[in-house]
Amino acid sequence: MTELNLISAVDAAIPAEPFICRHLIAGEWRDSASGETYDRMSPAHGCLVSRAALGAEADAEAAIVAAREAFDSGVWSRISGKERATILLRVADLIEGNVERMALLETLESGKPISQSRAEVSGAADLWRYAASLARTMHGDSHNTLGPDMLGVVVKDPIGVVSMITPWNFPFWILSQKLPFALAAGCTTVIKPSELTPSTTVMLGELLFEAGMPAGVVNIVLGYGASVGSVMTTHEAVDMVTFTGSTAVGKAISAAASSTLKKVALELGGKNPQVVFPDADIESAADAITFGVYFNTGQCCNSSSRIIVHEDIVDEVVERVVELSKRVAFGDPLDPRTQVGAIISVQHQGKIDDYVRAAVTEGAEIALGGGPMTVPGLEGQFYQPTVVRGVSPEMAIAREEVFGPVLSVLTFRTMDEAVALTNDASYGLSAGVWSENVHTCLEFSTRAQAGTVWTNTWMDGFPELSFGGVKQSGQGREIGRYGLEEFFEIKTLVMRIGRTREPWVRPE
Ligand code: NAD
Repeated sequence: MTELNLISAVDAAIPAEPFICRHLIAGEWRDSASGETYDRMSPAHGCLVSRAALGAEADAEAAIVAAREAFDSGVWSRISGKERATILLRVADLIEGNVERMALLETLESGKPISQSRAEVSGAADLWRYAASLARTMHGDSHNTLGPDMLGVVVKDPIGVVSMITPWNFPFWILSQKLPFALAAGCTTVIKPSELTPSTTVMLGELLFEAGMPAGVVNIVLGYGASVGSVMTTHEAVDMVTFTGSTAVGKAISAAASSTLKKVALELGGKNPQVVFPDADIESAADAITFGVYFNTGQCCNSSSRIIVHEDIVDEVVERVVELSKRVAFGDPLDPRTQVGAIISVQHQGKIDDYVRAAVTEGAEIALGGGPMTVPGLEGQFYQPTVVRGVSPEMAIAREEVFGPVLSVLTFRTMDEAVALTNDASYGLSAGVWSENVHTCLEFSTRAQAGTVWTNTWMDGFPELSFGGVKQSGQGREIGRYGLEEFFEIKTLVMRIGRTREPWVRPE
């Protein structure tokens, strides 16, 4: 195996008992109506991490009824923005006070490095704070230019009961991209975390109690998509579904929600290119490419899993990325030095490897890695940092989400070719451009079909800046002001403020 910076198992304290996850329904922690539970084993350590109530239709139904009743009671939907903001700010403080215990569970369930989990949990507190600021400052419009004696007022009402379905790759972060914004708008919610990573969502439920959130405003149901998720997307009492996950499930949810015409917001997959022009700062680009492909073990909607590099510099860029890849610390997620952890499941590791094998069969070359690896002292599954060059645009590895630490290298000669390759994808989540020429960057940014374009950087994000995809990467936006807007229903009030209206029925 290639020389790598491998971090062997560390002697870290893994809790002796599993974390117990129950449903949160109408302000009570409940077992499943069936009494069934399921276990989550750590993908890196092979140990038991959590035991969760296995929800089914009856549990989802009870949670939806609780959310509906809470919404209709006005206990949250009709209080002031100041009152909502006060609770959201308390939650932010509580999250910060619980970073260590939440980060440990996040790492054990997902296999991501502990330093990253800490950053995601504490960073999420800032999303709660930003949403709190919006709760107090959001407003509608008024129109006093409609003619004599007319006033038009456009108000923003909370949309109602929102189902939130989240994935395993950023369990707490993605929840925090949705929940505080829905709450700021005045909505009530039913949340279903991924069956693989329930714990930090349940921990948040505990913090919400402590912060004084009224019962029934936030409900959590644990379990699988086919049982719990399908009720959450079809139930008459749900007004909106916000989903983050795979494009295939997103399409199924959109179809399921259409029977009751719910609003659907979708954050789906991506096949995100970083495009490197010949005048780029190659050292910075190579570093960002290395980060973009290995962050979260490549199990990231924003993974820059393909790079499109000008032919004149491709050798230099690949050589540098390979050198840097060997220095990235892969291994035990509980070691604070580790930058890249485990693969979420054995099946997923097999899927990653199938993409690499297929590309080689079709003529691509492996410049680094190319297979599973073991980490001394750990039972879980890991994949080598992998760089595949000579990839052509028709290959599956160039078009589909590999969702692993695997970089595909494609080349271009002209701006038109770079843009065509970028846009030759069913996805349109994000893209990046590297050049020292502002005109090159601007031309690329305006022509790229993507929800976000990064210029001479990769994956910087801020609560103020909305995020989302075009084409099959999704619909709607999260975070920022536009992320809040998703949770509103717009209502127009038309008022005659004098008695000047000519009668429609002619006087006798
Ligand atoms: P997934 O689609 O398999 O599952 C996501 C969630 O949907 C889970 O909670 C699952 O239980 C639930 N689910 C499954 N079937 C369902 C159904 N029929 N009805 C309702 N719910 C159902 O995705 P995953 O494997 O957990 O996550 C990885 C995917 O998420 C990748 O494709 C990745 O690109 C995407 N993702 C996108 C973003 C983004 O912001 N665009 C962010 C993170 C992850």
